[in-house]
Amino acid sequence: MSISKRIQLEHIFDLLYQRFGKRHWWPADSPFEVVIGAVLTQNTAWKNVEKAIANLKQAQMLSPEKLYREPVSGIANLIRPSGFYNQKAKRLKLVAAYITETWNGDMDAMCRKETGALRNELLSINGIGKETADSILLYACNKPVFVVDSYTHRVFSRHGMAAEEAGYDEIQELFMDNLDHGTRLFNEYHALIVELAKTFCKTKPLCDRCPLSDLPRVTV
Ligand code: SF4
Repeated sequence: MSISKRIQLEHIFDLLYQRFGKRHWWPADSPFEVVIGAVLTQNTAWKNVEKAIANLKQAQMLSPEKLYREPVSGIANLIRPSGFYNQKAKRLKLVAAYITETWNGDMDAMCRKETGALRNELLSINGIGKETADSILLYACNKPVFVVDSYTHRVFSRHGMAAEEAGYDEIQELFMDNLDHGTRLFNEYHALIVELAKTFCKTKPLCDRCPLSDLPRVTV
């Protein structure tokens, strides 16, 4: 652990929390709804995911067993607002199959599995990458795993804390190696980074109004 990186990361967290407050993320009524959202949010805005989940709710499809039994075409039709709906329908069906066949539909049992082993199983499902798997581990299973996304890369590379070419694992290690492992901290930190990137650290950044404006920057 690097003390200076820890101090920097904690300082950034404090600045973001002071500006944005508690984010109440991930918005979902059940762990399985988190799983669905984690798949549907790939390459789309959250407002589109909300519409797709509302359709699934209305059709009473928010259970692993029901999604597992539903034809891909039926799922695709319901999740159309999320984009890439044929591909995502196949992914949802595969993840529902995993939870149904391996865990008898019991997400609590699934989440009791050791974190690294469960992560490997999730990653073995076609279409489940590291960000999706880690979102499931953190937000559905309450495991202390830091979720990295393109926003995390953007913010922390702009501030010289991650290399421009840094990959997922390297950025994840920045947080996992330098912060205490806590579900609440990782949950809130990821959500705050998302809010920061959506509000200020856009493709064209609005640094003068940003809560991190006083921190050293390297690329903007
Ligand atoms: S908007 Fe500017 S100050 Fe804010 S996080 Fe992005 S690069 Fe940093």
